[in-house]
Formats: sequence, C-alpha cells, structure tokens
Amino acid sequence: MQWVILHESGHYLMWHNLKFVISQLFIFIIGIYLLFLLKAGLIITMFTTVILSVIYIQAAKIFEFQADTYAAKNMDNPNGMITGNIKMKEADKGFLSNPIMKHLLTIAVPYEERIKIARKQLYFKKIIAV
Ligand SMILES: [Zn+2]
Repeated sequence: MQWVILHESGHYLMWHNLKFVISQLFIFIIGIYLLFLLKAGLIITMFTTVILSVIYIQAAKIFEFQADTYAAKNMDNPNGMITGNIKMKEADKGFLSNPIMKHLLTIAVPYEERIKIARKQLYFKKIIAV
C-alpha cells in the first residue's frame, strides 16, 4: 500500500501529469503533421496511429519508472514492493500477461523491473546503514 501511495506521490512531485499532457500533445502534433505531409489514406493513418501510440507508451513508461524509483527510495521497507509485484505477477493471467504485449501496449513498468528497482534500494539502504 505504501508503494502505491508513494508511486502516485512521485508522479505528483515530478510534474508527470503535465509531462504526460505535453508528450501526448507533441506526439499528436507530429502525427497530424505526418498525415498531412504524407497525404495519408486510411491504411497509412491507422499504421501511423499505431506506431505513434507505441512510441507514446514507451515515453510514458519513463515516467512510470521514475515514479517506481521514487517509491522504492522512500519506502520504509522496499520488500513490500517486491512481495506486491510477485503477487500481481502471479495473478496476471490476461492478454497482457504476455511479456511482449505488456511491453508494447502498457505503460506499467514490468514486474521484474519493479522488483529490480526495489532490490537496488534494499542494497543501498543496507550500505547506508553500515
Ligand atoms: Zn504511475
């Protein structure tokens, strides 16, 4: 629970909502420009939309990674982030449980990456405590 609250706090503190809007607008303008430049028909328009959507998802994933890193750094015990992600991974049986689909079509940082982020913070916290 602490991880989720800190993750969302990270979005707020790093102005991610504004950055999401700016990046969406930027990609939208690029898309409109390309479609006018290419004098695109339906097929090219659909193809361009899919490609730009995947590009946006990859850009948005950077913000999610930053929010997860912020959460792990500020948690009392990042082990909660590890156990939470293991449970979510085990429960995730849908279409997006396929790693390739999940990587291409969701902005969420993969469970394995979140676990790595948490383990890294555990390592740093042990170093600091020594
Ligand atoms: Zn997020």
